[in-house]
Amino acid sequence: MANIVAIVGRPNVGKSTLFNRLIEQRQAIMDNQSGVTRDRHYGQAEWTDKYFTVIDTGGYVVGSEDIFEGAIREQVELAIEEASVLLFMVDTMTGLTSLDQEFADVLRRSKKPVLVVANKAETIDRQQAAGEFYALGLGEIFPVSAQTGTGTGELLDEVVKHFKDTGIEDPEAGVPRVAILGRPNAGKSSFLNVLLGRERSIVTDIAGTTRDAINTRYKAFGKDFILTDTAGIRRKAKIKDNIEFYSILRSIRAMEESDVCVVMLDATRGLESQDMNIIGQAVRAKKGVVIMVNKWDAIEKDTKTADVWRKEIHSRMAPIDFLPIIFASVHEKQRIFQVMEKVMEVYENKHKKIATSKLNETMLPIIEAYPPPAHRGKYIRIKYTMQLPTPSPTFIFFTNHPQYLKEPYERFLENKLRENFGFEGVPITVFFRQK
Ligand code: GDP
Ligand code: GDP
Repeated sequence: MANIVAIVGRPNVGKSTLFNRLIEQRQAIMDNQSGVTRDRHYGQAEWTDKYFTVIDTGGYVVGSEDIFEGAIREQVELAIEEASVLLFMVDTMTGLTSLDQEFADVLRRSKKPVLVVANKAETIDRQQAAGEFYALGLGEIFPVSAQTGTGTGELLDEVVKHFKDTGIEDPEAGVPRVAILGRPNAGKSSFLNVLLGRERSIVTDIAGTTRDAINTRYKAFGKDFILTDTAGIRRKAKIKDNIEFYSILRSIRAMEESDVCVVMLDATRGLESQDMNIIGQAVRAKKGVVIMVNKWDAIEKDTKTADVWRKEIHSRMAPIDFLPIIFASVHEKQRIFQVMEKVMEVYENKHKKIATSKLNETMLPIIEAYPPPAHRGKYIRIKYTMQLPTPSPTFIFFTNHPQYLKEPYERFLENKLRENFGFEGVPITVFFRQK
């Protein structure tokens, strides 16, 4: 069973600092614009051979003018629902606040084990001040310093006592990591909304207000996946520049962290050079790719239009012609499920391993029938091939003269591999070694 520990508490008490310490990597996104990263963040942690997932929740701001208040509250409630243990963080520097009290009310109703973590307790004074939080009526107080690590050992000793078993070392193994990429306005936020439903992604009707949800695990349309997507964060005009820059960085990172990228095109604009860049980048990074042509409702078409588009995209992207293309409409909820099915299929393809015997049985006769051209009278022989245990399909061909094998033959082999073993949506790497 997966053990889940959620860190909750009002803003600025030090939740993401503790989160980072527990997962021991800077996975939480730090940004000075408060409120930019207000979704749940997941990370894996371990203590005394017990494994658990840590959730860093955003703030839960009651009675502020924050338009996201309701949605943030929902996120915290979701976290509470999923958690095995709740760490309620308070701040010994500021002491007990009314917002802490409101949190305590919600947590008391949760019926989950709650540990009160009194943070910023670097000094004896503040450690003693932590006693004031007994007034919350939530039981034992753990004074810690998330920054220096003081007290976190004692806290974790208590946390793991509440686990029913040792947990799962890597609960995300085998779950596809998906990035949704595309130019601004292609429909990424709308897609997320349809995919995940309002309660799972914070999107308001105000233009361009999508908050990110990076590395968050979802179940939608019967599929289990992790979104490494950001959908672009654009919020207040005055911080626009920073945020635009940030969102580009984030989408590169989202791509890097993903197994499969959904690249969304806008049918009303066709395939643009920026789209080709994004696709090219994903293919070079050896990611699985599904092309989703969105807004299919908005163009005039007949029975042949999809085929014409498919040919056009493949020819302009040549030699990249192995990416599935799905014509969809987020507005009409048309083929959304197919996109997710395709994502899963491409993920399977990316991890498919062909047995060496089967590979040689198939490929050697093809090579014999169409051998590589001789080079200055030297015959080039390919004797053996195998797939390497790499994260994306890689095939090695052993030959007497690897240096004379050129790209066209490499492409020929790639095409034959695809014809015979079906690697739709994933880049294949072929290389030659001396034997
Ligand atoms: P969050 O909003 O609850 O996620 O809080 P952050 O982790 O972003 O921390 C808020 C502020 O408190 C930051 O300026 C941190 O550097 C600071 N902080 C976090 N933990 C500690 C701590 O243990 N001691 C002290 N003195 N400051 C801390
Ligand atoms: P993002 O910038 O990629 O996140 O794009 P948005 O989701 O904000 O969508 C940009 C615009 O395209 C909005 O006005 C949407 O209503 C519109 N849009 C999104 N999906 C569709 C669709 O399937 N059909 C049509 N006609 N418009 C869409």
